[in-house]
Amino acid sequence: MTSWQKILKNSITSPGKLAEQLGGNSREMELVAAKYPLRINSYYLDLIKKSGEPLYRQAVPDLRELDDKEGMVDPLDEENLSPVPNLVHKYPDRALFLVCSECAMYCRFCTRKRKVGKKQMIINDKTIAAGLEYLQATPEIKEVLLSGGDPLMLADQKIDRLLEAIRKITSIEVIRIGTRIPCTLPMRITPGLTAILKKHHPLYINTHFNHPAEITAEAAAACTRLADAGIPLGCQTVLLRGVNDDPQIMKSLLRKLLAIRVKPYYLFQADLTRGTGHFRTRIETGLAIMQQLIGHVSGMAVPTFALDAPGGGGKIPLTPDYITHLGESLVFTTYKGLPCSYPNQILV
Ligand SMILES: *Cc1c(COP(=O)(O)O)cnc(C)c1O
Ligand code: SF4
Repeated sequence: MTSWQKILKNSITSPGKLAEQLGGNSREMELVAAKYPLRINSYYLDLIKKSGEPLYRQAVPDLRELDDKEGMVDPLDEENLSPVPNLVHKYPDRALFLVCSECAMYCRFCTRKRKVGKKQMIINDKTIAAGLEYLQATPEIKEVLLSGGDPLMLADQKIDRLLEAIRKITSIEVIRIGTRIPCTLPMRITPGLTAILKKHHPLYINTHFNHPAEITAEAAAACTRLADAGIPLGCQTVLLRGVNDDPQIMKSLLRKLLAIRVKPYYLFQADLTRGTGHFRTRIETGLAIMQQLIGHVSGMAVPTFALDAPGGGGKIPLTPDYITHLGESLVFTTYKGLPCSYPNQILV
């Protein structure tokens, strides 16, 4: 067994064990974990012990998960947008293909908490074959996004075979993998796995860090390995109350990401997922954070703040308003808050 497999095997999955390690009410956590699975591997558990609240909240079951009347089970309407199980075809030219039901840690705020890590999320050779068949039969799909769960939880050989099968579909140009593993189990990014991924370019990875304390030496090493294999790395952060809803923390996270060669891609407004209401912030919070980022930190570090429209409408960018008036000239405010204008005329 390699070191990452040991770390994963040492995961805490029972509230009793978790209470022994971190304290908390194991009976309450038991109620929550009966509905939404618990897994904290020993790497992330150590990080929680070092860094406290912002990491604790992401991983430890909270009674409020059961007390969310407003939330929707499937806020993005993914099940209705799936022509075959576990393949979401929402945009014309790209498809989201769920290829693994497990993760290296179960995030309490997960958008797919209705099924991730649960028995009812059935993924096997048959569902994978059906997804591949759909991709083959739908040539307008140019990009496939592998997600789950976490695709990098699959064994090396399975990942290799899956990528090979996708590469045989000539209409697919780009493969994108969505994975939280560089953050939650970075030692899984072995030289062996990296060599496999590298065979299937153009391949992009979007990972998922939410707090600067998650950017450890191990996470940096994992991202370096991937970047050295020519894989462009992006990050999809979720704006979470009590985790990163603070401009200074967000700035620190984004700068650290850039320094480990990860380009911040999206900052997501939390979805309306049932069981995650206690994480949600007001839209104004995200807009105010964006205002403190734009112009103040490297443009390379600034993600697009976006909301995934309830009901499957797709991602909508949310941008602070810089425009005061648009007519014969554009009147706007600079990032420093100063008035400015630009003549809106074509000179003949
Ligand atoms: C988010 C998402 C995508 C990818 O959207 P991008 O804006 O290209 O990152 C594709 N399909 C589905 C179903 C999605 O939810
Ligand atoms: S790693 Fe992603 S899919 Fe898995 S539980 Fe966390 S947010 Fe959900």
